[in-house]
Amino acid sequence: MDVRPVELDERVQLDFISNMIREYYPNVANVHVHIEKIKKNYRVHITLKTVAHYRCDRCLDEYDTEFSSEIEQHYHVGAGELLDEESIRISEDATEIDLDPVIAEMMLLNHPMKMLCKEDCKGLCPHCGVNLNYEACRCTDTPIDPRWEKLRGLIK
Ligand SMILES: [Zn+2]
Ligand SMILES: [Zn+2]
Repeated sequence: MDVRPVELDERVQLDFISNMIREYYPNVANVHVHIEKIKKNYRVHITLKTVAHYRCDRCLDEYDTEFSSEIEQHYHVGAGELLDEESIRISEDATEIDLDPVIAEMMLLNHPMKMLCKEDCKGLCPHCGVNLNYEACRCTDTPIDPRWEKLRGLIK
């Protein structure tokens, strides 16, 4: 059996990942796989790069951004004690390894909790809803004077 490391480069459509996050990864991903045989087991290192399509939590704008992540997964062939508890057991006569579940898990783990179009996104004005990255609104430069509020009450 071949013991040299195997390198694979694949272009993958991420349509098998969790439907909770699938909408954010519509683009093809470049996946690099490095497979090493250790005794009779395999160590698989996966690097994935794609362009994610997110929506900013602050201003609600959609934006594209580079997404990359990597993971190392051990595959344990046949019976016997697992290398580590994260190892996936595959049968002695398996002819291929399905990497989709591992990639799906990696995507979930690395999916950002927070999405920001840019670090200093100004967001939306809570009063008028204008996107403050593009235009200024006058909500903040006319602070309401409590005395005027009283007058306004009288006029009514
Ligand atoms: Zn934003
Ligand atoms: Zn405003």
